[in-house]
Amino acid sequence: MTAPSLFWSPLVATLHPYVPGEQPRIAGLVKLNTNENPYPPSQAVIDAITQAAADGLERYPDPESLAVREAVARRHGLTVDQVFAGNGSDEVLAHAFQAFFCHPGQALLVPDITYSFYRVYAQLYGIELGVMPLDEGLCVDVPALAARAAQGCAGIVLANPNAPTGQGLPLADIETLLQACPDRVVLVDEAYVDFGGTSAVALLARYPNLLVVHTLSKSRALAGLRVGFAMGQAPLIDGLTRVKDSFNSYPLDRLATAGAVAALDDQAWFDRACAAVIASREQLAQQLTALGFEVLPSQANFLFVRHPAHDAARLAAALRERAVLVRHFSQARIAQYLRISIGTPAQCDRLVSALTEIFKAV
Ligand code: PMP
Repeated sequence: MTAPSLFWSPLVATLHPYVPGEQPRIAGLVKLNTNENPYPPSQAVIDAITQAAADGLERYPDPESLAVREAVARRHGLTVDQVFAGNGSDEVLAHAFQAFFCHPGQALLVPDITYSFYRVYAQLYGIELGVMPLDEGLCVDVPALAARAAQGCAGIVLANPNAPTGQGLPLADIETLLQACPDRVVLVDEAYVDFGGTSAVALLARYPNLLVVHTLSKSRALAGLRVGFAMGQAPLIDGLTRVKDSFNSYPLDRLATAGAVAALDDQAWFDRACAAVIASREQLAQQLTALGFEVLPSQANFLFVRHPAHDAARLAAALRERAVLVRHFSQARIAQYLRISIGTPAQCDRLVSALTEIFKAV
């Protein structure tokens, strides 16, 4: 990174921007580091995008993203005024932080180990954070979080299943949190929920303070298209729309709109792809256990593992030398873990062979 510039505003000099996982510029690597779907998206998506391009790109897209919001509403049994769409769930999260969590003097509560963008957005918007340690099993400590929330807070943000641990909370725990701070928003980021988690969408009718955020980047294999959405009661969606209309009134372009609608409507592709990823996850968990790894239970499209006899950072480097990318985080509490995205069966085999080779060499 370059030295701070005199031209920067003071806030910019203090930012710790998110460090994205490596997107390699060379071909042939087995890419198990950023939790993408290993399968290409549904053919219906490709056809819809091709058609949208042929229909013409000279006109602006719909500033209200109605077609995508309708498709989400159809899929989740909601009305269109309960859905907000954005350019990837990262953008939706950014809008939500601005819309709901800027309460001066009150802290936004987040687990200490979770999606690292939450800290970045909090810093960007000057939101104080109340960081809540995970329990000994690396699960969100719901009783502690609820007790802290009940004392007053700016809201709660958590990923369910959590990232990078992959562990999920039951809906009863989400309800406990919703009830602990009825006058603040509880944002549940369900980026990975389709791989075996339990969605809080079922609670939306009963909790006006619940916002559920989804992405098409994982279970719909559309990380390259940048589509995410939030679901909540209409007043929360109105809050997000006020923020959006204040700086970015075209969240989804015409190609993303066409692709997203086709993806949301292709239930058969979705069911097959999720089942394939889950089956590979269960098999890989067994293979890694056989190699001596401790594998946390996962409801996501990745595994969070550590090996009692091997340093995680060195393992990640040795795998990279063998053209396999996995993710290592340097945060002290999880520095001995690797996060491994679930690949195709062939990619998982490459990982297992590379690990076997590394273990033989030492
Ligand atoms: N939430 C979580 C927990 C994630 O891991 C990610 C992606 N890494 C996102 C949100 C953002 O996904 P996208 O912007 O691609 O929708």
